Amino acid sequence: MQMNTKIISIEEEKASPEALKEAGEIIKKGGLVAFPTETVYGLGGNALDETASEKIYRAKGRPSDNPLIVHICRIEDIFLIVEEMPETAKKLADAFWPGPLTMILKKSGKVPDTTTGGLDTVAVRMPGHKTALAFIQAAGGYVAAPSANISGKPSPTLAKYVEEDMGGRIEMIIDGGEIAIGIESTIVDLTGGIPVILRPGYITREMLEDVLGTVDVDKAILEAGSKQAPKAPGMKYKHYAPQGDLTIISGRQEKVVAEINRRCEEMEKRGERVGVIGTDSTVSLYRAGSIKSAGSRGEEATIARALYRILREFDDEGVTVIYSEAFEGKTGSKGIGQAIMNRLLKAAGHHLEQI
Ligand code: AMP
Ligand code: MG
Repeated sequence: MQMNTKIISIEEEKASPEALKEAGEIIKKGGLVAFPTETVYGLGGNALDETASEKIYRAKGRPSDNPLIVHICRIEDIFLIVEEMPETAKKLADAFWPGPLTMILKKSGKVPDTTTGGLDTVAVRMPGHKTALAFIQAAGGYVAAPSANISGKPSPTLAKYVEEDMGGRIEMIIDGGEIAIGIESTIVDLTGGIPVILRPGYITREMLEDVLGTVDVDKAILEAGSKQAPKAPGMKYKHYAPQGDLTIISGRQEKVVAEINRRCEEMEKRGERVGVIGTDSTVSLYRAGSIKSAGSRGEEATIARALYRILREFDDEGVTVIYSEAFEGKTGSKGIGQAIMNRLLKAAGHHLEQI
């Protein structure tokens, strides 16, 4: 069903109460509103209303066994939706909420099965973004939201990409400008013995270990072709993918640049439209195609912020073949290199070549 999507602009911290009220009312009536968070834009509906969750799956074209994250605006609100709040969850909430961390906990009977994709656990996050928090409050306190993109496409970091994917499918988009972090929240499963990271993000393993002691990482998420099924259902799907065919080339910098240049020339001769993802220090070395810098290797946050935007820009430019440098997170580093590489590998369908 085609509908009119209203777009309102709200600068963080400057939300008019009327605008938030209008957005909140849409959610309370069972409608959908896309809103900014510090990670990516979310596609929100009432988490406690099973038909709202169904609408989210439909608007995204998302498989309904891929659960949504429930967003709250006060830590104490979590007690309604979880069966128990383990000590680990209390510590993490104290340390990282509001912020880019999602916790998996046993769900209470208040959360419909549609929201959790039939699982008996629920994903919960309190975002660190003023507009998001005010919107969640106006919406009644429990907003189920996956990223506001059509399933499979890169998550939106600008409202214009939300509009491209969701225009005509949802009631409202809150435009909060460019997103600060640019990749989705870290997901940590607290339902077993040792906490397990199901999706890497801005909050790193080292940061979690500082608070909890040992934390494991779900093996399925970084290894290409791992036979093990990922524990976050969403991680098994093709994701974040541009329309062009993306290959990551890893190795010594000079070799990588030379190899990408060679392939670009070859592909252009074949009539392909080529895109290159480099960094500030290498972009001047590439010769062919649409060349983009993801940012600075010294500041991985710049790369996280730019990645999805670049993939979307290639789509807009009709790029058919993409080569990217690799962005390995150094072991033990506090950076988000691991999260960046996780998303890039998925965008490339795990097509990584070591040279
Ligand atoms: P998105 O908000 O689009 O990033 O999607 C939410 C992510 O959280 C997906 O990868 C889901 O599979 C994951 N997720 C949500 N709820 C659960 C849960 N109860 N257990 C494990 N993963 C979950
Ligand atoms: Mg998503």
